[in-house]
Amino acid sequence: MNIILLGPPGSGKGTYARMLNAKYGFTVIGTGVILRSEIEKGTKLGKESEEFMKIGKLFPDELMAKIVAKKIDSIRNRKGLIFDGYPRTIKQAEFLDEYLESKEMKIDLVCDVLVPEKVAVERISGRWSCPKCGFIYHVKYIKPKTLGICDKCNKGLTQRADEKPGIVKKRFQEYHRLTEPLKEYYTTLGILKEVDGIGTPEEVFKRIVGLVDSIQKEKQ
Ligand code: AMP
Repeated sequence: MNIILLGPPGSGKGTYARMLNAKYGFTVIGTGVILRSEIEKGTKLGKESEEFMKIGKLFPDELMAKIVAKKIDSIRNRKGLIFDGYPRTIKQAEFLDEYLESKEMKIDLVCDVLVPEKVAVERISGRWSCPKCGFIYHVKYIKPKTLGICDKCNKGLTQRADEKPGIVKKRFQEYHRLTEPLKEYYTTLGILKEVDGIGTPEEVFKRIVGLVDSIQKEKQ
């Protein structure tokens, strides 16, 4: 069972990816998380990607392809994959289809999390995440037990550099221009399902679980 979580910045893809991992044991491939961990380690890849991230632009498709292929190859768990933040362009989607096919795998479900831009922007501006495990908290909706500290890692929470208003605007422009066309791409393939992304994380997750379970039943 391989799932893509699609949706604008702030739609909660990272949160639902982690919830799916906890419920089904699927492995999460979160490209934003991978790039941020490279930035934190100070690698060459991290330095390159930081230049794109801090201005709200997408990292080049060819470089993303290498990162994703390496990640897929490293996964031994065959229960399933959850793609969070990948693909983000038609080229990336085509690459992913071809790469998975070469491994006799395929995408079973593309879950498009629908959230109005105004709501997504409000969510992003209240967001704090753990630099170690990547868990995302929110000042209003997902509070840590101790203010500013990750419940799991005990690390100080940080706000992402690309969550400043000007950069958020650019990220949305990139989303509309490059990522939204994926809806048509996956609708044509017959695997896109829309989910109402308004509600508590538990409410939205329930809707996603409904989709995953029905696809799993079909596959049996
Ligand atoms: P995210 O955490 O998924 O919102 O990603 C944060 C930033 O990482 C994006 O704004 C891009 O600069 C970069 N990034 C993450 N995933 C991709 C991708 N699939 N393609 C290109 N750039 C990406």
